[in-house]
Parts: sequence; C-alpha cells; structure tokens
Amino acid sequence: MRFSAEGIVFKGLPLGEADMIMTIFTRQKGFVRAFAKSPRKTKSRFGSALEPFSYIRLSLWGKENAELPRLIQADIVHPFQKLREELKCFLRVSEIFEMTFMLIPEHVRQERLFDILLDTLRMQEQDCMNPKAILCYKIKMLAAAGFMPRLNGCARCAGTGRRFYFREGSILCDNCSGNGNPISGFELSPGAIKLFETLRLWDWSKLNRVVPSDGLARELGMLLDLHIRYRLEKGLKTRDFIENIKTKAAMP
Ligand SMILES: [Zn+2]
Repeated sequence: MRFSAEGIVFKGLPLGEADMIMTIFTRQKGFVRAFAKSPRKTKSRFGSALEPFSYIRLSLWGKENAELPRLIQADIVHPFQKLREELKCFLRVSEIFEMTFMLIPEHVRQERLFDILLDTLRMQEQDCMNPKAILCYKIKMLAAAGFMPRLNGCARCAGTGRRFYFREGSILCDNCSGNGNPISGFELSPGAIKLFETLRLWDWSKLNRVVPSDGLARELGMLLDLHIRYRLEKGLKTRDFIENIKTKAAMP
C-alpha cells in the first residue's frame, strides 16, 4: 500500500552504487527507515530532496509496518539549505538530530515534537548562533523521550537543593545525598533552575518571551548535555567532533 507523509530528512546511508537507506522523521509515523532507489545516480529532484535537514512530502510503498518500505516520491517543502552550508549551523543541528534519533524510538508518532523541530530549524535558519532555540528544543525533546531531568526539588524528600545527580536524573538535597558528593553532583545556580522550570512548563508558542542571559543559557545547556550523555551512556559523535574542533582551535 501507498502511504503519504510529511517528513524531515535525518540521514542517508549509501547502499551499493546509487541506492540509499534513508532515515526520516515523519509527522505521521515518527522515525521511519526507507529504501530509496538510485537517488545518487543523477542530480535529480528526488536526490536533492533527500539532503539532510530537508523538509519534504514523501510517499512510501510497502506492507503496513514493513521493516523497510520503498521511498517512491520525495518533494521539497523547504530545503533548509543554509543549515547545511554553514558549518556552525550544520554542527548545531546535527547534534540535536543525533540526540533525537538516539532518544526517540522508531515508529512512535511524535506530532508535537515534529512541529517543534520544524520551528527550531526555522529559528536556526534565521540565526544559527542563538542558543535559546536549541536549549528549548532539547528540553521539549527530553519530555517527549521520557527523560526529563528533575530540578524542582529533591527526588527523594522533595526538599530544596541545588546539586544535580546524573544517576538519579534529579536534584538531591544534602541530607538525601549524604551531604553531597562533589564529584558526581553538578551544582546549579538558582537562576539556571528557574530558567529550566520556565522552559519546561511554558508552552512552545510562548517561549519567544523568555530571554535568558548567555551565562544561564550556557550553564543549563551544559547540564542538559551531560544529562543526555549519561542517559545515552556514551558521548554523542557530533559533540565529540565539536569538542575536537574547539581543542584544535585553542591550540597555538
Ligand atoms: Zn532529600
């Protein structure tokens, strides 16, 4: 049967000389993988619609719940070309794509997250150095994945605390953590906790009203990245790549 959807192209894996296995995040079915015949053969419209980050309308052909349906049509709705052409944009967006792919299971409909990702890509296209959209996206994505960190009080007694424990995925007060273990805990400023709670509780449509300082955005961004890293039990390839570039750039 034929199935039509809207999707955002996540990645393509070359297969043989000209074919591809595509991973696409669709509004209707969440993540799907599909076989694409010969998109690399010529500079076709089909091929250019399958560039990473492209927002497309697509048609799949195969049995319902087929492991690898065939991608028979792909038309660009918006190419997000700028996000591929500028290295900084490319790295930022690649990082959130990789996190999303690793935390959100395949074939699970995530319509709200799809719209939020699309909005995030639009905002990144306008200003890819604005950290707020990425920060907000990570929080909403963690909510969809069921890995939201808890920052509004101690996970065990609901008492107050500012030290976050990755194993618990939560803040623990000094009593419950045994007076704090400075090695495993991550101390947060009250401002970063407040910023997180605002971004977590507010609807996506209102987030343009939040204007965090660079320092708080950086602090919260670091906590979220470490939390995601812990949840994945390994570093993200893109993040390692960015760290590598930073290290090299800092060298004389
Ligand atoms: Zn406690």
